[in-house]
Amino acid sequence: MSSARAQIDSSADDFGQFSFHPSLEKGLAQAGFQTPRPIQAATIPACLDGRDVMGLAQTGTGKTAAFSLPILQRLIEEPGRGPLIMILAPTRELALQIHAEIEELARFTEVQATTLIGGVPLGKQLRALRRDPEIVVGCPGRVLDLIQQRELDVRGIDTLVLDEADHMFDMGFLPDLRRILGALPDDRQNLLFSATMPGAIRNLANDLLEDPHVVELAPSAPAEAIEHGVFETDPSRKTGLLDALLSNDDCGSAIVFTRTKHRAKRLADQLDRKGRRAVALQGNMSQGQRQRAMGGFREGKFDILVATDIAARGIDVAGIDYVVNFDVPDTPETYTHRIGRTGRAGASGRAITFVTREDRGWVRATERMLGEKLARFDPPEVDASAEALERPARRGQGRPSRNRSGGGRNGSGRGRNRSGGSAKAKDGSGSGRGGSAKSRSRSGSGKSDARGGGGSRSGGRRRGGRPGSRPAAPR
Ligand code: ADP
Ligand code: MG
Repeated sequence: MSSARAQIDSSADDFGQFSFHPSLEKGLAQAGFQTPRPIQAATIPACLDGRDVMGLAQTGTGKTAAFSLPILQRLIEEPGRGPLIMILAPTRELALQIHAEIEELARFTEVQATTLIGGVPLGKQLRALRRDPEIVVGCPGRVLDLIQQRELDVRGIDTLVLDEADHMFDMGFLPDLRRILGALPDDRQNLLFSATMPGAIRNLANDLLEDPHVVELAPSAPAEAIEHGVFETDPSRKTGLLDALLSNDDCGSAIVFTRTKHRAKRLADQLDRKGRRAVALQGNMSQGQRQRAMGGFREGKFDILVATDIAARGIDVAGIDYVVNFDVPDTPETYTHRIGRTGRAGASGRAITFVTREDRGWVRATERMLGEKLARFDPPEVDASAEALERPARRGQGRPSRNRSGGGRNGSGRGRNRSGGSAKAKDGSGSGRGGSAKSRSRSGSGKSDARGGGGSRSGGRRRGGRPGSRPAAPR
């Protein structure tokens, strides 16, 4: 590939600097991308030059377009019969999401992509492959199966992308990945993108990448717009605490992470029985169920997604107000990933981790990784009735809270005067629900006075029906 492509021929801070084909520029405009994100500005020229690239940047910084745009540009310039490009991602949701972003950017081009993931019938994927799409996006397991069954011809692959490469390891994909690499032509461009850089990935990168252009942006640090910290609690109070948090006016949408699939399912069921619009996303669900859960959350049909790490990896939903780590993540890196679900695309967000006595080691390790202390939030006052989440719902019959009237540590304090932040949500027009994909938008600007996380209003609002702060939505 010629290096002339990277020449700057217009303003250096818009996409014009890359001289993309007009059809691609049109796709960019349609997607609403005006300015390249730092990771994009730093990697696209080298990608266009055909170099191997390693791009490390926190979640939500735009890595997908960083590799997709140069790939699309190249396919427009040098069309060919596919598959030419292989993009591997550790989860099905992520593969679908990458595919969707490529489709959006490639909307005005002839380029075709297809997704190769497990858990769905093979037939459709095989038919799609027969149309020789230039790009295949898949998870290692299904891709390897298809290569071994000779359904996926990889002889033409000259560009490989490993996205969220760090998770290829925790998910045990390394052996499959090595087999896939063995099947691909040696002469190819390799692009590796990741949010964190554990040792195992460094090793793979050393094996895989040749004289790479390496870009490392603020590794392991959460986005600045995210206000994050911990609540110290004990295990039995977690559900009540969660209920209080979800009742905050500035909490229009939340992802709640649990340690196990079983806990995710159980907690989602409990919240649902409480009258909240909650749905689980966990690995025991069928692919169809997972897609319905994700789609419903994206479109605002559900306010709360209760997920395990694996199921939620890399998912991009704009405008999530809260991330709640109901259980602490396994590793400090996972912490960055999880809390990166909020505050995406420059929006602000809050991330709250429930920590018990047993989690002290985790707190220390995470603070070491971040190089700073985690903020300790004052837990919101918990409505005693909220602690009994497991009781069957009496929808719409909540009673006014007993202990709400100004008592308690936080009841009258800074967490209280938050109503300004939810005005938009309450007028019934601003919550962006029900629209197209990625239709979520932040439902308020109450963040600045939300510090401390206090001031639960669950009791009061429950009386009015649905306990969220947003208006009853069209169903
Ligand atoms: P990452 O892979 O780094 O976690 P994503 O690629 O999922 O992040 O991007 C996060 C969000 O930012 C997506 O919704 C994406 O569409 C959006 N985005 C990416 N690049 C830009 C850009 N240049 N301008 C505006 N939005 C962008
Ligand atoms: Mg990504």
